[in-house]
Amino acid sequence: MSLSLLVTGGAGYIGTHTLVELIAAGFRPVVFDNLSNSSRQSLDRVARITGVAVPFVEGDLRTPGAVAAVLAAWARAGDPIQAVLHLAGCKAVGESVADPLKYYDNNVIGTQHLLHAMRDHGIKRLVFSSSATVYGVPQHLPLREDHPMVPNNPYGRTKAMVEDMLADLCAADPEFGAVTLRYFNPIGAHASGLIGENPADTPNNLFPYITQVAVGRRAKLSVFGDDYDTVDGTGVRDYLHVTDLARGHVAAANYVHAQPGFTAINLGTGQGTSVLELIAAFESSTGVAIPWLGSPRRAGDVAASFADSTKAQALLGWSAERSVADMCRDGWHWQQGNPQGYDTVATPRAREDVAVAAI
Ligand code: NAD
Ligand code: UDP
Repeated sequence: MSLSLLVTGGAGYIGTHTLVELIAAGFRPVVFDNLSNSSRQSLDRVARITGVAVPFVEGDLRTPGAVAAVLAAWARAGDPIQAVLHLAGCKAVGESVADPLKYYDNNVIGTQHLLHAMRDHGIKRLVFSSSATVYGVPQHLPLREDHPMVPNNPYGRTKAMVEDMLADLCAADPEFGAVTLRYFNPIGAHASGLIGENPADTPNNLFPYITQVAVGRRAKLSVFGDDYDTVDGTGVRDYLHVTDLARGHVAAANYVHAQPGFTAINLGTGQGTSVLELIAAFESSTGVAIPWLGSPRRAGDVAASFADSTKAQALLGWSAERSVADMCRDGWHWQQGNPQGYDTVATPRAREDVAVAAI
């Protein structure tokens, strides 16, 4: 499909992978990002992978008129934006506890600005980056979309608030369509090794911590908790390859184009993996040992979380295709070639099985 889409947060980790899949599917994305947690270089890398220089507008969602100006410019040029993929936001749970106003401001007020601009330009299609965090402590597993939203931190509450806002908007206007994608734990990187996760500070999440230990940036991993009621006492999560997640956005963009109304969809594999299992998978995929140390439980963590992904299959025709071994191999390929993320001077050679177009 050759629609023009606005991708907020398109320079970030999930955004860049989503751009690659959107372009492969024939969409024409336009990126709006304030680069608060990303680098302009990430979009240059997308251009190397796809051969397409994605139009980029640097701006903040909360700046009055900023998104509206982009929508107006594309409309004037005779190429109106037809849908928005809204990925921009802050995403660190711990930071949201320490600085909740930053999260309500960026994630909730920022989205409200976006929705006003969309309304003023008659754009009625949105795909939203939500999170499995909206479920809070699982009352049952696997997590289905009808599990109550009881988020237990400010970050999760901002995602739930936006979901409520979108559901209300769809109820008020039968022509409005919103798909809210509840991501489980995206990890890994594009198979080219050219784009990947690039945490600005010490990683909060397990997988980027593992790859930074592997590349020698950190001495050892702390494993938080060994007494959960899980297969080996460590926390269990539903890791999914970021390229599979990106493919899910293409499917959601197609779905929302055809279908008004509010729809919440999990994107996960349905498989749980413990911390120790992920370490073992990484070591066996890469041959690199990960020194680790047992540490106390991390406050606010749940023992296990994994998706029921049948709705994604039924509505979007989407299911995850890549294994945990693929996630480890590709995440390591990216980290090895970019030890300091996008700040690394040398860029990796693409793997032979991946076509990398020159711009
Ligand atoms: P990211 O930080 O790499 O990307 C987010 C992008 O949004 C960044 O490029 C940032 O500069 C931009 N941004 C932030 N605030 C902005 C604003 N006010 N105006 C314009 N741009 C802004 O994060 P990501 O991992 O790619 O996550 C993308 C989305 O997915 C986020 O909404 C996040 O909450 C959600 N999510 C991520 C995960 C995960 O594990 N990575 C899990 C669940 C949900
Ligand atoms: N974890 C860990 N060490 C770390 C980071 C995370 O042991 O340095 C554990 C964490 O306790 C959880 C799992 O790894 O059981 C996944 O954590 P992550 O932060 O990646 O995802 P989330 O908990 O937000 O789903």
